[in-house]
Amino acid sequence: MLLQGAPVARAIADALRGESDALRERGVTPCLATVRVGEKDADLAYERGIAKRCEQSGVTVQRIAFPAGVSQETLLRELSALGANPGVHGILLLRPLAERFDDAAVCAAVPPGKDADGVTLTSMAAIYSGAHEGFAPCTAEACLALLEHYGIPIDGKRALVIGRSFVIGKPVSMLLLRRNATVSIAHTHTQNLPALCREADILVVATGCAGLIGAQHVRAGQTVIDVGIHTLPDGSLTGDVRFDEVAPIVDCITPVPGGVGAVTTAILCRHTIEAAKKSAR
Ligand code: NAD
Repeated sequence: MLLQGAPVARAIADALRGESDALRERGVTPCLATVRVGEKDADLAYERGIAKRCEQSGVTVQRIAFPAGVSQETLLRELSALGANPGVHGILLLRPLAERFDDAAVCAAVPPGKDADGVTLTSMAAIYSGAHEGFAPCTAEACLALLEHYGIPIDGKRALVIGRSFVIGKPVSMLLLRRNATVSIAHTHTQNLPALCREADILVVATGCAGLIGAQHVRAGQTVIDVGIHTLPDGSLTGDVRFDEVAPIVDCITPVPGGVGAVTTAILCRHTIEAAKKSAR
């Protein structure tokens, strides 16, 4: 089965529409602020995807864009103004930022209650503690939303997450663990990756290495979630998994593009609406 992201995103957005309408009736217009530095193609494409999904979900978007040379001080000032603005419920900072920025300091300027993409230490701690503060990173939660939408069993299953970043690998591992999967995490020092991969029922691949996972890593009966996204010289997109080799072997697989990425923006809307609901209490 092809685990396409679009139907998942549409189902989430449709459900959110009702919630955003209910909020509007109470005088609250859910609003996401996106903050961009520079004009990177990937950021602009992400912004367009966000705008489309927010419209479907009934979320207003406030787009803020700074020139590439903006100072950290100005960026911090803007984030703190958005944090104090009661009309803004979610804040998304397009990352990675250029190296000259202190990423930790910039992320810390987002109030946890508006941390729609889970970049603050409060959000990260909540993933591990189970506290209802902040939000999980959208991409990590999108992996779980795909599994749930397509009815892939998680409870008691063996999951292997390849990648241990704070953005994807670690949070997705914790989210799978919360749903009672038996979770292993593989990384650059892992030995005999193909054999480890073949043991898993669910493989989540988030390595940033195009085409790392091929036929020797998989077997029949598995579900493969490919988080990777890479632009080839001809402009086309590809993932961390060699789709043409792996798809005929496994039971379920996400395409790239059209898999996890499509769901990420719907989760961003969900977080913004949850934040708006909390602010309206
Ligand atoms: P990262 O570079 O921060 O982390 C990569 C992780 O993979 C590291 O923990 C590393 O140990 C592991 N790794 C790298 N090479 C490996 C190898 N050969 N064997 C085993 N482990 C290996 O990357 P990230 O931020 O977690 O992103 C991962 C991928 O997901 C990237 O391709 C990125 O573009 C993509 N991404 C997709 C979305 C989306 O919405 N679909 C969002 C964010 C990131």
